[in-house]
Amino acid sequence: MELLTIIAVAVGGIGLLVGVRILDGAIDKARIKKYVESRGGEFREAKWRLFAPGWLGNKNQRMYRVVYRDGNGVNHLAHCKTSMFSGVYFTGDVVLPHSYKQIPEDECLSCGYDLTGNVSGICPECGTPLHPQQRET
Ligand SMILES: [Zn+2]
Repeated sequence: MELLTIIAVAVGGIGLLVGVRILDGAIDKARIKKYVESRGGEFREAKWRLFAPGWLGNKNQRMYRVVYRDGNGVNHLAHCKTSMFSGVYFTGDVVLPHSYKQIPEDECLSCGYDLTGNVSGICPECGTPLHPQQRET
């Protein structure tokens, strides 16, 4: 009976830790998103990392690999650290080529021409066919 109680407490404790970790992650992502948007950017994704270049994880700070689009429509990959009280810090910010992961919804992949409302499926500027993912929208 006592052993069962110990096991129950241990399992409950692990469950609590995992729950806190998931909750922290959700809060962190919301904080990073807000930070990116406050600087005129568009948040794409944040993936939790144990380490970031130049930083070791510490107990209260978490590292994320973040992809975002800045106000000029340029995609960036950066690492960031954040915690409940220290705000958001970016490092190692690099500009990504257009083709990385996210296909621009309304721009020609070849020349960047604005394809909003395009129905022909071909860029009128340079003749490049639209990406299948662009035709869906
Ligand atoms: Zn084009």
